Amino acid sequence: MARARDPIADLRRIAFLLERANEATYRVRAFRSAAKALAGMSAAELTERAGNGTLTELAGVGDVTARCVAESLAGEEPVYLRRLAATEGSDLDAEATALRAALRGDCHTHSDWSDGGSPIEEMALAAVELGHEYLVLTDHSPRLTVARGLTAERLRRQLDHVAQVNAALPEGFRILTGIEVDILADGSLDQDDDLLARLDVVVGSVHSGLKDERSKMTRRMLKAVANPHLDILGHVTGRMVSSRPAGVTGPGDRGHRARTRAESDFDADAVFAACAEHDTAVEINSRPERQDPPKRLIRRALEAGCRFAINTDAHAPGQLDWQRFGCERAALCGVPADRVINTWSAEQLVAWTHDRPPRR
Ligand SMILES: [Zn+2]
Ligand SMILES: [Zn+2]
Repeated sequence: MARARDPIADLRRIAFLLERANEATYRVRAFRSAAKALAGMSAAELTERAGNGTLTELAGVGDVTARCVAESLAGEEPVYLRRLAATEGSDLDAEATALRAALRGDCHTHSDWSDGGSPIEEMALAAVELGHEYLVLTDHSPRLTVARGLTAERLRRQLDHVAQVNAALPEGFRILTGIEVDILADGSLDQDDDLLARLDVVVGSVHSGLKDERSKMTRRMLKAVANPHLDILGHVTGRMVSSRPAGVTGPGDRGHRARTRAESDFDADAVFAACAEHDTAVEINSRPERQDPPKRLIRRALEAGCRFAINTDAHAPGQLDWQRFGCERAALCGVPADRVINTWSAEQLVAWTHDRPPRR
């Protein structure tokens, strides 16, 4: 049997790393309280309580902290600590800056063809100024009528229009075609298959039935992730952590009204395992009011082997500069640049969306 670790030291280490990652105070306090509650206890009593499951009878010790203690006593680095330790010793600010510098495009943006505030040309020129090599235009799909989702007919017209706009843009930059397609209640995608096959990049997101019960939501997401057309799973939990950010007003955010919203409930480990298996990237959505997925889920997706796309979900040109927020969150979770698909060139990206084989 492996030699026991010091569970108190592990709990304190977790609290420190959570604080460093700027996690919520209540989360940090849970680990500090558990460390304090167990500090005076003999190794024998700790082992006995871990063995018979009575650690949680102590004030200040919950299920998560008790599991960490049991793992430490068994000589394993607690899973919780292992996930956090990915960022240990790194300069998070420098990591975030490096990640932002490595991004060559944005895979989730909207124009005034759906609920964005600006024409495609304006979005493209702003992306050029930010130093991007490409911008994936992902207007909404038909059933999202509040966001003026594009019918198949309008999307076909948009593809012709994008070809014209591209011809007039500076060399070395291009608009890639795409869609933010609704993941419907049965997990199918809200656009014709032949069109989805034609697009450079397909982002799929859940916009309705966000309160569906866990097994239903899990089935729905698993079916979408397994769809060979789906390249990126958008704003994974659908949560809204704050109201519309200051300064964002007007038509730029039609359909994204100010409100907070809980995460939808689904089996995250199953969904991320499927994303890894089908090589569907998990979006890190940079919008300040979304911050989706939450950091604990980014860490789980990272551990599951998923790729990521750090996107702005911009509905206006100025919002294209929000990628920094997503990069900060990715850096806090130890996401390396080589797992992020928008560090690739446009050619690499499109080769991946069109030709990637299932990994397993
Ligand atoms: Zn929208
Ligand atoms: Zn969306």
